[in-house]
Amino acid sequence: MSEKRKIKVKTTLVELDGDEMTRIMWRMVKDTLIFPYLDLDIAYYDLHVKHRDNTDDRVTIDAAEAIMQYGVGVKCATITPTEDRVREYSLKKAWKSPNGTIRSLLDGTVFRTPILTKNIQPTVSTWKKPITIGRHAYGDVYNNVEMRVDGPGLAEILFTPADGGRPVRRTIKEFDGPGIVQGIHNTDASIESFARACFTYALDQKTDLWFSTKDTISKTYDAHFRAIFDREHESWKDKFRQAGIEYFFTLIDDAVARIMKSEGGMLWALKNYDGDVLSDMIASANGSLAMMTSVLVSPQGVFEYEAAHGTVQKHYYKHLKGEETSTNSMALIFAWSGALRKRGELDGTPDVVVFANRIEAAALETVEAGVMTGDLLLVADRNPQNRKVSTGDFINAVAENLQRKLYA
Ligand code: NAP
Ligand code: MG
Repeated sequence: MSEKRKIKVKTTLVELDGDEMTRIMWRMVKDTLIFPYLDLDIAYYDLHVKHRDNTDDRVTIDAAEAIMQYGVGVKCATITPTEDRVREYSLKKAWKSPNGTIRSLLDGTVFRTPILTKNIQPTVSTWKKPITIGRHAYGDVYNNVEMRVDGPGLAEILFTPADGGRPVRRTIKEFDGPGIVQGIHNTDASIESFARACFTYALDQKTDLWFSTKDTISKTYDAHFRAIFDREHESWKDKFRQAGIEYFFTLIDDAVARIMKSEGGMLWALKNYDGDVLSDMIASANGSLAMMTSVLVSPQGVFEYEAAHGTVQKHYYKHLKGEETSTNSMALIFAWSGALRKRGELDGTPDVVVFANRIEAAALETVEAGVMTGDLLLVADRNPQNRKVSTGDFINAVAENLQRKLYA
């Protein structure tokens, strides 16, 4: 395609580069599927672990600020340093998880959606459409305080108001023997941001929004989540009606039972623990972690797209040894297409949206034609035409399909 026929993307897209095998694939995806077709201005932030270390992690904060400025970002997977990684890369320290840093700066909620193809059946046979999980990533047992009780005694909750008001206490348990105690909390501000991000994303995706808690048992804590969602719903009612979508609250037990018999196609908002557990169930029922996309949505409507998987370290070490890899780039491709579609929607440039749709169609058709990486060969329908291809050959096969679509 000649330079002047490239599709113009109006506003700058924020790109966050990453680590290991995903960094290798990221480059291939950009060079093969994105840059040849688009006239695109990129604000590039290199989140390679060594560059984060060199900048004392300033680059992560700069990248988050750029996403807030421009509205859309696309991120490669990154190493969250552990003690092993500090030694491996001679880091100054074990810097915080970049995703954690960006999520807290954007005050965002993460939504994960499986990529479905016709030749990979979900374990749950009724599921026809993807189920998106929105997990509240704050509070509950993840920010808890727990205690071992060695013997008989009184355990209480005590709240001391900052304004000097009267302390409030509640008895948890009068222990007559050893046991355990746990204190959990949440804040209205965090639950409100979560609710707003869920309503924003459901409307964006034109899907029903489900929310479920155990408010019959937890009459203050879980009931407060429900009340905040109900209150938020009031200001979205008209927009939801116009879009033909619904907000639906049901008890968590009922939601789980209904999901297993549903066709899918909803955004399911969940408290922190429920979301942690059930997102793994949804991922595993859909075959491969490499078929799961992830988007961080801020309550202000800022979006960051990425793959749900990590840097695929084991494959990277094989790659470094010169061995051929068969690593799946589907989720990375969908991160780019998701970001470009959103950019096109916000800019009012339908040709960019069409291009994003074509990349996705090309990628899906490649897998459906039996051209797939090793992880998918294990979970796809038994079809003799299926064949395992290398990391690079898969991306090249997608590029061939894409070109056919663009020049058809
Ligand atoms: P991982 O990178 O998700 O990989 C775990 C295993 O899942 C791989 O060894 C591979 O299994 C399979 N897998 C994942 N993605 C795949 C793909 N695209 N194609 C084929 N197979 C795939 O998780 P990890 O090895 O636990 O973590 C590695 C690094 O990633 C860590 O440093 C962690 O901090 C980071 N991480 C980053 C993010 C993020 O940036 N969002 C998220 C999670 C983890 P086989 O080896 O069996 O083929
Ligand atoms: Mg989990």
